[in-house]
Amino acid sequence: MKAEKKTKYIIANWKSNFTERETLQWVSTFISYDFPSPLGSFRIIICPPAPFLSLVREKTKHLSFVQVGAQDVSFFPEGAYTGEINARALTGFARYAIIGHSERRYYFGETERILSQKCSEATKNGLEPIFCVRGAGDNIPSHVRFVAYEPIEAIGTGNNEPLQKVLAMKKNLRLLSGTYFIYGGSVQKSNAGEYLNSSEIDGLLVGGASRNPQSFFEIIKQYAA
Ligand code: PEP
Repeated sequence: MKAEKKTKYIIANWKSNFTERETLQWVSTFISYDFPSPLGSFRIIICPPAPFLSLVREKTKHLSFVQVGAQDVSFFPEGAYTGEINARALTGFARYAIIGHSERRYYFGETERILSQKCSEATKNGLEPIFCVRGAGDNIPSHVRFVAYEPIEAIGTGNNEPLQKVLAMKKNLRLLSGTYFIYGGSVQKSNAGEYLNSSEIDGLLVGGASRNPQSFFEIIKQYAA
């Protein structure tokens, strides 16, 4: 009997890209692919910009292995915070929320206090935080179940971190048992298999390569093939 494959989480972070038309094109192309089986062995989490969450959810809801995530969440609850998107508002559209991405820490000055508040707002409202860390110096709020290790030097540079270094960092992070460990940083078709086929890695967070549905699909296939 064939051993059951461990479920891997493959996350697309589109960042601040795409119009509504481009979103529709991406999704229509993506859902037309012939997904490898067994489908139970992976979960795909698509994180579009907030205005397109509903569209992506609507177009993918017939695919049980595809879920939708937000790229961020307000650290405030609902209320008089003009421009903010609070966790309760997101619950109709998203199951997950990326929190603590290095771009948010760098460009928006998000501190550990803010990030921990975001995680509690998310979990209080039933959203699963995917918490990003740059290394062992970043604190991980309690109750976080998904930790994405994304070394700065690897993000968007084409220099993915070698598997052995990623695994050494996993040890340093001293994750609680039951935590899902995700790697992100210049993942592409040519290197995805190495991470996905390691039993120590539960998934991938993909930025640049997720903007093209074909490249993203090719990454998924590296495990499911
Ligand atoms: C990211 O920004 O989360 C990321 C992993 O980007 P890239 O895949 O482009 O390195």
